[in-house]
Amino acid sequence: MKTIYNFSAGPAVLPKPVLEKVQEELLNYRNSGMSVLELSHRSPWFEDIISQAEKRLRELMDIPENYQVLFLQGGASLQFSMLPLNLAKNQKAYYVNTGSWSKKAISEAKKIADVQVETLASSEDEHFTYIPKIDPATIDQDAAYVHITTNNTIEGTVYTDLPETGKVPLVADMSSNILSAPYDVRKFGVIYAGAQKNIGPAGLTVVIIRDDLINRSDTISAMLDYKIQADNHSLYNTPPTFSIYLAKLVLEWLQELGGVPAIEQLNRKKARLLYEAIDQSDLFQSPIRIADRSIMNIPFITGNKEVDAQFNKEAQAAGFENLKGHRSVGGMRASLYNAFPIEGVYDLIDFMHKFEKNVGGKKTNDIHYQNI
Ligand SMILES: *Cc1c(COP(=O)(O)O)cnc(C)c1O
Repeated sequence: MKTIYNFSAGPAVLPKPVLEKVQEELLNYRNSGMSVLELSHRSPWFEDIISQAEKRLRELMDIPENYQVLFLQGGASLQFSMLPLNLAKNQKAYYVNTGSWSKKAISEAKKIADVQVETLASSEDEHFTYIPKIDPATIDQDAAYVHITTNNTIEGTVYTDLPETGKVPLVADMSSNILSAPYDVRKFGVIYAGAQKNIGPAGLTVVIIRDDLINRSDTISAMLDYKIQADNHSLYNTPPTFSIYLAKLVLEWLQELGGVPAIEQLNRKKARLLYEAIDQSDLFQSPIRIADRSIMNIPFITGNKEVDAQFNKEAQAAGFENLKGHRSVGGMRASLYNAFPIEGVYDLIDFMHKFEKNVGGKKTNDIHYQNI
């Protein structure tokens, strides 16, 4: 089999040792005589899996005792509704609009009755190529929360400093950079993330929520109610058992590597190598403001649609999968999540050099996405 590097933005590459472990254990989980796929979610085997997954996540992120960890379904997208439904009834909820996912979070919150949604800041004026500054004085201290998207998966931006929100809880969609670099959980009221980028396979959503933010309403459907999910330790109904099992293995893998500080170093190195190659190139360019560049999702363009298309085609033929940029922004995007091997970055840079030599051409001075 030829070597494939998978730059997918999600579902994304998983650590190879984890996949090997899954294969090894698949038919007979710990001498149970059953596959992990077949275990009851009430069995001691699965109880051990889910409690280990929670324990590992708590250790890796240093999650304090007064926060609950929930393993839910419905993706990060369901959190766009669950969050305002549980936390913001008859209140104001602030959102920072930094890209496609923020926009979806805002539009879903607006559908929840009796929630007053306000956009606190936006970078839409410059095609989401930067993170806007927030003036804390403009935040009504009675608001339910301030919602941010820590890493903008499609646009390729990240918050380097968290906004100051006073006593208003900061809520974060951390889907595409959870566990990529340390975050102080105490600075947040709620953190949520779809698992399929840095935690495991699709089908699982992790929610980390401070105790005092649970139980704000008694009229919510059971499945959408944080209180019911927390009281039942994520076992109110059948949870996505296989996804939780895989997440547990990924978390163990990350701990063995040295945890979040260790993977952060590696992530920064991978990103730095690629950004340097882009910035030094005469063909490729990054549309993102330098201070706000993501280390997880790195979009780049040539400024010429046909050349981008040619690059994507030749890259795929050479074994670089899923490099095509999101359909809304075009160009290319390399997602370098925790499990993405550094060899893939070196090989991609080599490939970019060769392509540039063959194509010739100069980058345009026009720094913005090609189709805007
Ligand atoms: C992928 C992603 C989502 C959507 O996640 P689903 O699990 O598909 O609902 C939301 N927000 C961000 C930042 C993402 O990267």
